[in-house]
Amino acid sequence: MIIVIKPKTPKDEIEKIKRKMEELGSEVIEYVGENYNVLGLIGDTSSIDPDLIQANRNVEKLMYVQEPYKKANRLLHPKNTVVTVNGRKIGGNEFTIIAGPCSVEGEKQITGIAEDIKDAGAKFLRGGAYKPRTSPYSFQGMKKEGLELLKRARKKTGLPIVTELMSVDLIDEFVENVDVIQIGARNMQNFDLLKAVGKTDKPILLKRGMSATIEELLMSAEYIMAEGNEKVILCERGIRTFEKYTRNTLDLSAIPIIKKFSHLPVIVDPSHASGLWWLVEPLAKAALSVGADGLMVEVHNDPANAKCDGKQSIKPEGFKRMVKSLKEIAKIEGKVI
Ligand code: PEP
Ligand code: MN
Repeated sequence: MIIVIKPKTPKDEIEKIKRKMEELGSEVIEYVGENYNVLGLIGDTSSIDPDLIQANRNVEKLMYVQEPYKKANRLLHPKNTVVTVNGRKIGGNEFTIIAGPCSVEGEKQITGIAEDIKDAGAKFLRGGAYKPRTSPYSFQGMKKEGLELLKRARKKTGLPIVTELMSVDLIDEFVENVDVIQIGARNMQNFDLLKAVGKTDKPILLKRGMSATIEELLMSAEYIMAEGNEKVILCERGIRTFEKYTRNTLDLSAIPIIKKFSHLPVIVDPSHASGLWWLVEPLAKAALSVGADGLMVEVHNDPANAKCDGKQSIKPEGFKRMVKSLKEIAKIEGKVI
């Protein structure tokens, strides 16, 4: 339920309504806008009498939130959320590019790629240290050593690091060492993991599950936010369909839909969405055009010998060319790269 307060209502009057709602058992989120204030009620609102609320002269109207996600809902937070990491923004008028290899493979590899993508315009470095692989016999990542190498690359370039957390057991290590914690597609509905990262104050990059609906993605964001962590960045990375030419099918419509229903920033991962390096650039351009807040792109210096996802990785030169043309589109879209 949402209570829209009339413009120019004194603060203490708003506070009175807020306290009353809390007494009746609701959690109240206050949104202070330029023209009006909104009180969003979360939880069991059954003991609240709508007639009594409407009898209050400071109340403009009551609205019911149909969607099951509340904190992630744009109705409760009309302005876009901008997540700031070490002074770098994701959301608003920025189009933020996160790039790097699928997995960290060695110091020269990760540092070299970090330098190249930074020069080309990337704002964050990605790289898997703990890898979720379909086969237990595939490379599982450099683990702790991978995190150390990411930190070295960060020190050398200043790029904040984004890497995937798969287990609650490693949460302290991640909080201490990484800048953005990635929750991968396979763990989008690992609710214990979502609750655990929700208790931290790290920005969370939440990837859409491969067979998850948009609403399920937003409900997973809600899990994180319900624990107090509102720094959630969503990521569309393609979903499973019957199509076989691509690894997944990029759901471009998810971007404007998420923008309409949620205030959270949403980026696109054209690499996992397509599975093919030559599809990355056209899909990245499409992502920018449909209103995404950024990209997460896999870049590898030697895709033919990559330990993971070489087929979908673009080379640093290709990345540079792509960012150059994205900058042109960004101008038209009123975004800054
Ligand atoms: C990744 O980004 O490294 C990854 C494994 O992606 P996803 O979880 O989307 O499959
Ligand atoms: Mn990958």
